Amino acid sequence: MSTSLASHVRRNAAALLALLMGLLVTAGATTYIRRGVSLRRQQLFDDASRDGSVALQQRLDVYQAMLLGTRGVFTGSAAVERHEFRAYTESLEVRQRYPGIQAIGLARWLSQDELARHEARMHQEGFPTYRVWPEDAREHHAVVDLVEPFDVNNLRMLGFDVLSEPVRQAALERARRSGLPAATGKVRLIADPEGQAGFVIYVPLYAGMVEPTTPQARGERLEGFVFGAFRMKDFVEGLRFQGFQSTIDLTLYDGVTVSEPARLYTSHPGAPDAGGLRKQLTVQVAGVPWTLVFTTREAFMTGTRSSHPFTVAGGGLLMSLLLFLVTRSQVNARALAEQASAEHRRLANEAQAAVRVRDEFLSVAAHELRTPLTSLKLQLQLLFRQLRQPGPLDTERLERGVETCERQTTRLTKLVDSLLDVARLSSGRMELQLEDVELGELVRELARRFEMEAQAAGVRLEVDAPEPMTGRWDRLRLEQVLTNLMSNALKYGHGAPVDVRVRGDVELACVEVKDRGIGIAPEDAARVFDRFERAVSSRHYGGLGLGLFITRQLVEAHGGHISLESRPGEGSTFIVHLPRAGPGTPGQR
Ligand code: ADP
Repeated sequence: MSTSLASHVRRNAAALLALLMGLLVTAGATTYIRRGVSLRRQQLFDDASRDGSVALQQRLDVYQAMLLGTRGVFTGSAAVERHEFRAYTESLEVRQRYPGIQAIGLARWLSQDELARHEARMHQEGFPTYRVWPEDAREHHAVVDLVEPFDVNNLRMLGFDVLSEPVRQAALERARRSGLPAATGKVRLIADPEGQAGFVIYVPLYAGMVEPTTPQARGERLEGFVFGAFRMKDFVEGLRFQGFQSTIDLTLYDGVTVSEPARLYTSHPGAPDAGGLRKQLTVQVAGVPWTLVFTTREAFMTGTRSSHPFTVAGGGLLMSLLLFLVTRSQVNARALAEQASAEHRRLANEAQAAVRVRDEFLSVAAHELRTPLTSLKLQLQLLFRQLRQPGPLDTERLERGVETCERQTTRLTKLVDSLLDVARLSSGRMELQLEDVELGELVRELARRFEMEAQAAGVRLEVDAPEPMTGRWDRLRLEQVLTNLMSNALKYGHGAPVDVRVRGDVELACVEVKDRGIGIAPEDAARVFDRFERAVSSRHYGGLGLGLFITRQLVEAHGGHISLESRPGEGSTFIVHLPRAGPGTPGQR
């Protein structure tokens, strides 16, 4: 049991080990592929973000270049005519080529006492209601004088003193001192009817052909600022990079901190998708930093989702399972083959043993048949000689001779009958003729039959059957059972008394045949009921080893049971229980 359990565990362990290995490899491969997928996704996002920031930077560079170019128009002569400036900006096609641009123009640098002359000149140029606004007495003013495209909206900018507004003022200050383009922070555009958030870039304009190099010279020679005003939304949405506004969002902040008031623009008005990727970059816009925050939409994650990890995991699981099944079936097949060969060996051993027993039986049977035959032959020869003797026949002697012949014939018949019974029992052709039989009476009759034999052996045979014990049995077969047991008791009884007891209750009848002879060793006790099995040598006791086999078969055919109590040297007791109602009844055990 324990070895079969151990082998069972061992057998499954091999298959389980294969399964475990398969699962480990699958888990490893799936993790590897998943990592690959997420790396690729990150790479795509990083590339798109980089492209986005580069596109923004390039656009700003182009716009600044355009403003520097515009400054070139004024260099040497700040008195460019309005129509000349218009012709120039029209040739630039600013609206078409520079998305997001609201206006380009010139804010003239004027001292307080130049204001009146400036306004008068503007009145002369055809703007009778023109004035500088907001009115504010200051040492200097930066007043919008030229603006293009010259439409209703941009017209509102005319006369605006840019220095009056702090954010613009800071940018002007930087531009003036550095001589470089300077961008404002987030401002509300005056000319934009929607009031979009925007920014302005100022490029300082100096008198003379050569640009001043010191702050002081810059202060002295300042003539004004060429400016470009930009609508943030249109400016950013004109950008082109992979996934922008479809799978990737961009939010821009003025400065280096991410905060709601500093927000210049966002392509997702709602909250960004949680769980997506995020990247934050900073770019310099004409002297001020902008913070760019790129985020992914759900569509980016689904679009870059790969079925490879699932395929690998599914395929791996399937392979592992197959491996498990194949290993198990192989191991099972081997175990079955081993079992089959063990079974084969066992059957071969049994067959060999059976052949041995049969051979032994044949020699015993030959011997057993030969003994009465020899004696019969001798008797017949003797009788023949007597019959041929001259003179009167000795009839008494003849009769004794014939009697002996008859005894030997009976013995031969019994032997042959036993063989026939065994053949019948083996092929299941035994049929019982049931009738009412009184067991005590049957035992007593058989004891009478054995009387002569018992006397000859000097054995006292006693029957104890105090009460009648009737049952539905086959009389002849029961006779056979009792004859076998009683003749064995006499044969192996060592001349000691033999007792036969009949007892029972309403259901069961019981016969005990007890001798005080050689007894049977415990190891032989079960074997003696088998076919051809004998516990003693045929040299000492004749017999075919069939009697007890037939006895047990007959008892069991009656639904009964035979048992043996014995000790070697002290005798044996054979106990037969029979259901009184016959075979196949509740009384049987
Ligand atoms: P047989 O007596 O013809 O050999 P049985 O089948 O009747 O065959 O008995 C089988 C064996 O059981 C005998 O060979 C003998 O060894 C043993 N045996 C049977 N009855 C007794 C008994 N009363 N006492 C001791 N041994 C017995």
